[in-house]
Amino acid sequence: MPCQLPEARRRNFCEVAIGFTEEQALLEAQRCISCKTPICITGCPVEVNIPHFILSILKRDYVGAANIIRDKNSLPAICGRVCQQEDQCEARCVNAIKGTSVGIGRLERFVADYQIDCGSFATPFIAPPTGRRVALVGSGPASLTAAGDLARMGHKVTVFEALHKLGGVLAYGIPEFRLPKSIVGIEIRQLENIGVEFVTSCVIGKTETVDELLDEEGYDAVFLATGAGLPYFLNLPGENLAGIYSANEFLTRVNLMKGYKFPEYDTPVKVGKRVAVLGAGNTAMDAARVALRLGPEKVYMVYRRSRAEVPARAEEVEHAMEEGIEFKFLTAPTQFFGDTRGWVTGMEVIDMELGEPDESGRRRPVPITGTEHSFDVDTVIVAVGQGPNPLIQSTTPGLNTTKWGNIITDETGLTSRPGLYAGGDVVRGGSTVILAMGDGKRAARSIHENLMSTNCSRN
Ligand SMILES: Cc1cc2nc3c(=O)[nH]c(=O)nc-3n(C[C@H](O)[C@H](O)[C@H](O)COP(=O)(O)OP(=O)(O)OC[C@H]3O[C@@H](n4cnc5c(N)ncnc54)[C@H](O)[C@@H]3O)c2cc1C
Repeated sequence: MPCQLPEARRRNFCEVAIGFTEEQALLEAQRCISCKTPICITGCPVEVNIPHFILSILKRDYVGAANIIRDKNSLPAICGRVCQQEDQCEARCVNAIKGTSVGIGRLERFVADYQIDCGSFATPFIAPPTGRRVALVGSGPASLTAAGDLARMGHKVTVFEALHKLGGVLAYGIPEFRLPKSIVGIEIRQLENIGVEFVTSCVIGKTETVDELLDEEGYDAVFLATGAGLPYFLNLPGENLAGIYSANEFLTRVNLMKGYKFPEYDTPVKVGKRVAVLGAGNTAMDAARVALRLGPEKVYMVYRRSRAEVPARAEEVEHAMEEGIEFKFLTAPTQFFGDTRGWVTGMEVIDMELGEPDESGRRRPVPITGTEHSFDVDTVIVAVGQGPNPLIQSTTPGLNTTKWGNIITDETGLTSRPGLYAGGDVVRGGSTVILAMGDGKRAARSIHENLMSTNCSRN
């Protein structure tokens, strides 16, 4: 995939990956061997007909190819940029057995961008109005997908979002250089065009409760997709020093408040000369690369396991390394130091080695006694995971959750409360865009079946 050169992109917020040219897309599409049993489809949580859309590329029908994807996936330009394809469809591509899989994600992005550039969106079939109303809480990929599917099934759909901006993590978390916000906006407009109503700055559980939506506002079903926006910390000495951010706070300040455009926007984000980011997932990788673009001398990623266990998308790890982020693998923080004014000045870490696999299946990191050492930092970004915000769980009687606060559902997305469904990160914990979308699809199907059943009971 053509990209901006590392020395240029490490100081700007323009998109890193530039996308295939038509010629490159055609060459890549020719690598698909149209398997009789296309197992790549089974690797896609929303079951996009991959060989079929690639065939349309070969026929140079790019809008047709995009529409084939849209039949199953209402956010192709987003998924073409951020899906972890290497672990999903591309992992099952037969070409991968002997060499390199077809770049399915890159082809998806190519056709989705082509369709956006020529503005050629087909009006989807919309079933006649059913008279049923569904409220969706949160506007991330799970809700956006459920909203599109439910609207096409003829239901009246309203999405409630706590923030002033729609898109969930796609808007407040993933940075502009990986996912331009204009793309998120275009996909949301497609939903508005088919009648989905959006209400921003509305915190369900505070502004109004789930029970009020069901009983007073008369919604026939509610889908909860409130994500996992509550950051975890390490609870180490000194972690409350100034200059230590959660990754969520840091990325939100930059993405939503345009902190990277200071002084054009009145929302500066302080990044010192030496930044340490703790963790190595997608969130950590984004935080490190955003920090780098704000101009420090050095950005470290401190990760307690090895390169092989890094959970972030492979492409983003490579990009981060090319941009000059220094990885400190097998290293765990033990405490932070500060100055007399309470600002962080340094951190102590300890070397780790890998033991037997733990419950996550990854080899357990074990500290090596006596290897403690320190280095100077003036900004630390903690990106060691997130949990669900507990607000709705605590204001909705009878809603069963795990001990971590994740909402419990059955395989259709139904919670312990009739008429109340949930999906995405609030159920799974920090997960992926496409799995959240898969949950949205499943819940939409199940809500529809329930609403269309003769007695329309909420179960
Ligand atoms: C920085 C970052 C980078 C990532 N990169 C990738 C990637 O490259 N690829 C990938 O596949 N996945 C990535 N992920 C994970 C992915 O973004 C999530 O799995 C996905 O967004 C979850 O979707 P969701 O719809 O469940 O929730 P979210 O996207 O989290 O959206 C939830 C929405 O609900 C709103 N909300 C919360 N509470 C309320 C309430 N009470 N009332 C109203 N609204 C509420 C929130 O404001 C938010 O907008 C990343 C995550 C982060 C944080």
